[in-house]
Amino acid sequence: MFECFCCPVCGQALIRESQTLRCSAGHSFDIASGGYVNLWVTNRTHAGDSKGMVTARRRFLDSGAYGFLLNRLCSETAAFLRGRGEKDPLIVDAGCGEGYYTAGIAAYLRRQNIPATVAGVDISKAAVRAGAKRGEEVSLAVASLFKLPLCPASVDIVLSVFAPVCGAECARVLKPGGLLFIVSPGSRHLFGLKEILYDDPYENPPNTYYLPGFRQMRQFSEKREILVRGGQMNDLFAMTPYYWKTPADASARLAHLPTLSTPLDFHVDVYERCEDDAQEPPVCEHQTHNQ
Ligand SMILES: [Zn+2]
Repeated sequence: MFECFCCPVCGQALIRESQTLRCSAGHSFDIASGGYVNLWVTNRTHAGDSKGMVTARRRFLDSGAYGFLLNRLCSETAAFLRGRGEKDPLIVDAGCGEGYYTAGIAAYLRRQNIPATVAGVDISKAAVRAGAKRGEEVSLAVASLFKLPLCPASVDIVLSVFAPVCGAECARVLKPGGLLFIVSPGSRHLFGLKEILYDDPYENPPNTYYLPGFRQMRQFSEKREILVRGGQMNDLFAMTPYYWKTPADASARLAHLPTLSTPLDFHVDVYERCEDDAQEPPVCEHQTHNQ
């Protein structure tokens, strides 16, 4: 584990010696006792989800409400890896949060006897620490999505689930023929929640991505209607960006509801890393999705 990562300072491979990862230039990073590695090397302070947000998200996701999306990502991943036939493929969950999808996919591939290394990267130390507690064999690192600690052309699948997408980094780390799955909110995602919070709720606009070096293969949606009860409503609310920008009276309306019915609407774009690299230089695109 962890040897899929490269040195965030100089980009060379990291070799594991007991509980330390070291590159040939002598940069070293200790594996935390919690079972993850901190590869965050800039002077900027950490951003990302706080411990409270991580806890709310974990409680909600562990209820299984988004399990149908996880199942689809598992079957898509397994089908691609079976067809590809790589010996030890690498899957990276870029913006893994508290590891729900990372651990879920690793567990699924293990049950299917598909050998693979599964890694997750997130800017939030609280989230990565929580991910390591899931106990699944995944390599987790605190690091930037805009400077992934991964070697060029080393990854078979990059997953981006409600995370910022840096096309340039995805293009750099993916092998030719590798896939990028981008999961974003579809037009009706959480519309029932928005109807409670806002007088004039709007549908999510479609996402567009500028991804030089990629070709769009296909797109699909996964949709369900769910009924959310009690404290679970607040957990769901706390996962969304609305939590921070909703007036108190609207939040109170939600708090007084016994149940909430809302559509879940996930949109998935699948891109393939092109063989031909003679493209204009890619640029990063900051884009944040609501959960
Ligand atoms: Zn180094």
